[in-house]
Amino acid sequence: MDWETLQKECLACRRCQLCETRHNVVFGVGNRQAEVVFIGEGPGEQEDLKGEPFVGRAGKLLDDMLELIDLDRTKIYIANMVKCRPPQNRDPLNTEQDACAQWLSAQLELIKPKIIVCLGRIAAMRFIKPDFKITREHGQWFDRGGVKVMALYHPAALLRDPRRRPETFVDLKTIQSAMREDCTHTY
Ligand code: SF4
Repeated sequence: MDWETLQKECLACRRCQLCETRHNVVFGVGNRQAEVVFIGEGPGEQEDLKGEPFVGRAGKLLDDMLELIDLDRTKIYIANMVKCRPPQNRDPLNTEQDACAQWLSAQLELIKPKIIVCLGRIAAMRFIKPDFKITREHGQWFDRGGVKVMALYHPAALLRDPRRRPETFVDLKTIQSAMREDCTHTY
């Protein structure tokens, strides 16, 4: 499937109950030739209203985190596991994650990233392993089908608990080293 068809079909999706309460499908943004993809769990209120992932305070913090390792939204792709906002920002249900997985899978097939960074526990449980423990395993690399996958604390969690920020800085630097080793673009 090409990007245009994928986006058109995704924006019209009604495969799960989240379509009933969404304002916008949050498809994803960034560079479609990116070698690094960041994945969050699902849109929050601001994302739902704007149709873009990671806006508002958490989005600003993510931009600051990217800047620390010479990245910005033009160099990476950012998407969520579920494309429509779960009400009251609850965790997406497994049934919703399963229903939505085809869209992100298709995006990743088109992008073919070398590195995937999960933002937060929920994305890590899906992309790394079901019993992923963010406090113990953030910053560690896992190989998933030849792709390097790591999880960071979610920016919203870092806003709630700034004491986690030094650890996240170390994790970001680990990502930067891997980009320099594995990616062909200049970072
Ligand atoms: S969350 Fe995903 S599967 Fe559910 S309606 Fe939105 S796009 Fe479709």
